[in-house]
Amino acid sequence: MYIPLEEIQEIQLDHTSRCNLECPQCARTTKGWASLPQNKNLDLSLDDYKILLEPFPRNKLKVFHCGNFGDALASPTFDETLSYTASQEPRAIVIATNGSIRSCSWWADLASNHKDRLKVIFSIDGLDKTNSEYRVGSSFKKIMANAKAFLDNGGKARWDFIEFKHNFHQIEEAKKRASDMGFQEFNVKYTARFAVENKTRQSSKNNGVLEDRKTNHNQKDFAAVQSQYGSFDQYVNETTIDCKYKRGRKVFVDMNMRLWPCCWFGAPLYLGEHTKQNQSFQHLVKMYGTEFNSLRTHGWGALEHEFFQSYLENSWEKPDDKFQRIYTCGRTCGGKFEFSSGYGRNQNVTTARL
Ligand code: SF4
Ligand code: SF4
Repeated sequence: MYIPLEEIQEIQLDHTSRCNLECPQCARTTKGWASLPQNKNLDLSLDDYKILLEPFPRNKLKVFHCGNFGDALASPTFDETLSYTASQEPRAIVIATNGSIRSCSWWADLASNHKDRLKVIFSIDGLDKTNSEYRVGSSFKKIMANAKAFLDNGGKARWDFIEFKHNFHQIEEAKKRASDMGFQEFNVKYTARFAVENKTRQSSKNNGVLEDRKTNHNQKDFAAVQSQYGSFDQYVNETTIDCKYKRGRKVFVDMNMRLWPCCWFGAPLYLGEHTKQNQSFQHLVKMYGTEFNSLRTHGWGALEHEFFQSYLENSWEKPDDKFQRIYTCGRTCGGKFEFSSGYGRNQNVTTARL
């Protein structure tokens, strides 16, 4: 089976489908997400959090806000659910955000009220002139003011920096700035999304262009995998799989309270365009429908469903007509290509304690 309830250590949440930005490689700005009106303005509620957190003892769970389609701080229901989450005394609460939202006084209160178990990850991919190349619609000045208010009031924070060709030269300067401001960590990572689409350039908003660095290990690994297996799709079908989330005793819950094994599974159902991922997902939908994993309907009994009990592991280890391998698994957790942007064996990632 995937993970029994009592072994879950972390729940990652896509609290909302709202965001104030339009990052060009985000799932909400690509692959037809915006063409589906039912995707708009979805938020988890206080009642949802009561279902989510009720079975877990105090000081056990990490609650991680890092979504596919939204920034939790853009949600009107976030504040009351955060207060409730804190009252349940989880081991940790972590919020990943673009930081270009809410007021300085809100950030100061966030630090003062939750400093014991809260960490914020600010996703800032550059400095004054460059952050908004990728974080389209953000204000660097506002992010810095918010981060300062949070840090000056005792908040703990990490600065995450996705490197592109246009901001690579600023990494050392950003790291120094993070240290001067009181960030505890500075984390450089890169995106694999150029590599899996077999390109090094992509248009951004307002005629901007994003470019990958050729030294990105994802690019090299992608080429090596294609050469060894004949194609990336063949690799996806044949590679051994080491499930990142099972290893970490983690699950993912989307903004409709659907329970998934990981964040990558939480995306395909919401894409308006045909992709290899949602084509592969159609097999699941045909067998199980779209509500088999609804925590609103089944509570944590959803974990008893065949999908969690036997589908996943069979699809990794001995896929057949019924337990077909899902494209997402081979692409993301195969042995020779690192899809995630900051974890696993991604050799170019540097996380520094400041
Ligand atoms: S800030 Fe996050 S959720 Fe919002 S558009 Fe960018 S990547 Fe997507
Ligand atoms: S993509 Fe598949 S193998 Fe990878 S973490 Fe998710 S469920 Fe596990």
